[in-house]
Amino acid sequence: MTGGSAAPGPTMRALQITGPGRLEWREVPVPAPAVGQLLVRVAAAGVCHSDLHVLHADRQRPAPMTLGHEIAGTVAAAGDAVSPIPVGTAGVVYLCWSCGSCRECTAGRQNLCLAAGRSAMPPCPGLMGHDGGMAEYVAVPASAFVPTDIAPVQAAPLADAALTSYHAINGTREHLRPGGTAVVIGVGGLGHIAVQILRAVSPARVVAVDLAQDKLDTATRLGADVALAADDTAAETILRLTGGRGADAVFDFVGVDATAQLAVRTVAPGGAYRMVGLGGGAPGIAADGALGDAWPWGASIRKSYAGTRNDLVDSLALAASGAIRADIETFPLAEGPAVFARLERGEILGRAVLIP
Ligand code: NAD
Ligand code: ZN
Repeated sequence: MTGGSAAPGPTMRALQITGPGRLEWREVPVPAPAVGQLLVRVAAAGVCHSDLHVLHADRQRPAPMTLGHEIAGTVAAAGDAVSPIPVGTAGVVYLCWSCGSCRECTAGRQNLCLAAGRSAMPPCPGLMGHDGGMAEYVAVPASAFVPTDIAPVQAAPLADAALTSYHAINGTREHLRPGGTAVVIGVGGLGHIAVQILRAVSPARVVAVDLAQDKLDTATRLGADVALAADDTAAETILRLTGGRGADAVFDFVGVDATAQLAVRTVAPGGAYRMVGLGGGAPGIAADGALGDAWPWGASIRKSYAGTRNDLVDSLALAASGAIRADIETFPLAEGPAVFARLERGEILGRAVLIP
């Protein structure tokens, strides 16, 4: 390996899952970058609700595993066979560590990499076996490193919260016309950026829905035209606002039964429902019968995962232009367990970012 002058020590601190529901602050070896990898000195790591899903999943994952899939930092060293990205280059880590050579990857749809199998995600740092960025260092494929001058605390949330929101919205652009309506359900880490992306790329009116008033206030400040409490009247209000027709696109950043049903009841004929949240809810549509009556003709559902590498480049450009900016609260990495507990209680506005 070739490296920089400030060589990392043999060990570092990392926030690791050591078993279902168990999060530990541990001393671990600094990874050595393998062939084709870079060693990245982490400057900032975002805390995503997916980290909570992984922490509490029953499914056995390789443990211990360092969490963290929203990573910004600088190149500290390179393994063999890496085209030179100079040591000290700042950037973010693209989270789909896809095969790079299947038909989907070749077409630029790395998030749908065929090597991942039918319903799995491509390898992802801190979620799918590989150690992630809630540590001082992380080893990443050189192809996943995307240079940027954006400050690391701002750049980290772009690696998933912006990427995933942008992908869902960008793939739905033909639905977002002047006079139309887009609904954002869940104005958390992803949703508060989705509101801004919609403002930047679409002429449609934006209706934000959340359970919490502080999240709704955030949505209004960031440009949502209407902010609605997620209660029994939300569907009726959306239908009234849209003259009974419904919303042209519904972006669901929660994905529980209640939000899926809100989408079923409010999406317009020919409209788009994009399910991003991993809450395990089911939209329940049928060709006929009661639910079929509620699901309008021509409406589509997409289970939207992450985004393409190009979507990350576009998200970075949107941030560089000032069109989107994550609301962040920063914490020392050692406080990770307490930050996870706060996210779980709904006490994080925007994105929490950990600093090693
Ligand atoms: P978050 O905790 O920051 O935000 C969730 C928001 O949803 C909060 O504002 C909360 O108040 C609100 N909410 C909760 N229940 C609600 C309900 N019933 N109705 C309306 N609002 C409700 O979470 P996040 O980091 O933004 O992640 C959102 C979801 O997206 C999670 O399930 C996460 O795992 C998932 N996710 C999916 C992908 C993907 O590629 N599909 C990528 C990243 C995150
Ligand atoms: Zn995430």
